[in-house]
Amino acid sequence: MQMNPHVLIVEDEEPIAQLLKYNLEKEGYRVSVAGDGEEALLLADEGKPDLVVLDWMLPKLAGIEVCRRLRSARDSRNTPIVMLTARGEEGDRIRGLDTGADDYVVKPFQMSELLARLRAVMRRIRPALADDKIAAGDVTLDRGSHRVKRAGKDVHLGPTEFRLLEYLMQHPGRVFSREQLLDAVWGSEVYVEARTVDVHIGRLRRALNAGHDFDPIRTVRSAGYSFDVDG
Ligand code: CA
Repeated sequence: MQMNPHVLIVEDEEPIAQLLKYNLEKEGYRVSVAGDGEEALLLADEGKPDLVVLDWMLPKLAGIEVCRRLRSARDSRNTPIVMLTARGEEGDRIRGLDTGADDYVVKPFQMSELLARLRAVMRRIRPALADDKIAAGDVTLDRGSHRVKRAGKDVHLGPTEFRLLEYLMQHPGRVFSREQLLDAVWGSEVYVEARTVDVHIGRLRRALNAGHDFDPIRTVRSAGYSFDVDG
C-alpha cells in the first residue's frame, strides 16, 4: 500500500490546469485543482498537499500572496511550491523565490520538463515521497513490502506502529503533536484519545529499539514526537 503524493494545482487557465491534472494523474499523483488564490488556500488547508504548482497571475489573490500565506501557515510551511510564470518576468522569479517558492517554471512549458522539475523538487525536499523506501540512520522502511529493518534485521510492527513510523520518517526532525499524529495516522474522523498515541509510540519503540542503545524516536516534552537520527 503506497501513499501517492498529493499535488495541488493552482491555475485559472482551465486548459492548462486540465492538461497538468491529466499528466500528473498518469504519473501516479493524486491531484486537486484550484482556479483562484482563495480556493487554493482553502484546498491547501483541507487537502494538505505534498506539492503545490502555483500560477503567478491568479484572480482574487495573486500567486505570490498565496505562496507567502502557505509559507506562514504551520501545516504548509515546508510544502514544496513550484511557481509558473510568463516568460520575461524575471523580477517575478526573484520575488517568487524570495517568498519561498522552491522552483519556478516559465510558461509556455514543455510538459516533460515540468514533470521532471516536479520530480526533482519532490526528491530534494521530501525524499520519502519519491521512493517506496525510506531510510534514515540504520532504519529502513519499505512501503511496497510493508517491512521495516533496523541494522539489516527485520523489525516486526503492527499496522498502526508501521503507519506511525512511516509518517514520522517522512518528515525527519520535524516535531508532531499527538493531535497531528492522530489526524495523520488514525484519521480525523476517528475519535481516539491523545494518550493512545503514547501507547503506540511505546510499542513502536520497544520493537524498533530491541537490542539497540539509540532511540530514534524523540519525545519533545509538551510538544510531541519526532523521528531524529541526528541525536
Ligand atoms: Ca493565470
